[in-house]
Amino acid sequence: MKKNFVILIFLLSVTNINTSVFASSYLLEIGSGINKIVSTQVICHSFDDSIKSIELNVMNVLKNDVEEIFNELFEINFPIYMASGFIESRSITEGTQISLHSYGAAIDINELINPYFNIQTMKMDPERSSDRDKDLKLITANLSNWNIMGDELTSVLKIVIQEEGSDDRFLNREIKRKGMITDKVVSIFRNHGFNIWGGKWRQPMDFMHFQIPRVLAEKLLEVDEATAQDLWKKHKRSIQKKNIFQTMWSKAFDFVKKCRKYCCIATE
Ligand SMILES: [Zn+2]
Repeated sequence: MKKNFVILIFLLSVTNINTSVFASSYLLEIGSGINKIVSTQVICHSFDDSIKSIELNVMNVLKNDVEEIFNELFEINFPIYMASGFIESRSITEGTQISLHSYGAAIDINELINPYFNIQTMKMDPERSSDRDKDLKLITANLSNWNIMGDELTSVLKIVIQEEGSDDRFLNREIKRKGMITDKVVSIFRNHGFNIWGGKWRQPMDFMHFQIPRVLAEKLLEVDEATAQDLWKKHKRSIQKKNIFQTMWSKAFDFVKKCRKYCCIATE
């Protein structure tokens, strides 16, 4: 893929093709990785307290971990009304770079409660209206696209439709809502290799979005399955090592804090 990419860059430089052509040419490039996209059914709690199954399309090497992520989300009773993985030919919103969803290496969860927001353009995704009635229509249409009907629709609407006069568009993460990405959810994804969460980004913010590192995703598409499995295991091991280091560091920090407290009391 890298070699083809170099050829593509060369062709672009000699033919002066504009960026939109570049984007579609690049999509042809990742097209060869589409045969690495596999489907899996995951079980989750829905907003009306029933249990449902969601189909997710992801890169083959990530399938087991994605299934384990959703098993763990199920165990902590995390409600999910929608989750999406692979989205064909998707470019990063307002950008020319290809989204990791096109690699099957990103997952979005409960988008209305965990939205995408661009401060510069004030663009919010999914689209919301400042008019409450219009908002209700937009959201209902959005949810019906996800086959959210009946009791679940009512229960999701109860959470995502703002109270009269409210200006809150779910960007205030201090208000805890059902289905909102929590630290626990972030750590479940992280432990299974999805160590990048869009909620940590400052511009744009993408609270629904989890992904693996871009360089790794490109490498995984490029190599054979055995090498991909190996690379993926190494990536997860390096995260586990960082986790151990962070735990040790925070324990040491707590110990120092306790010691300081004790010393202060002793010298009073
Ligand atoms: Zn996303």
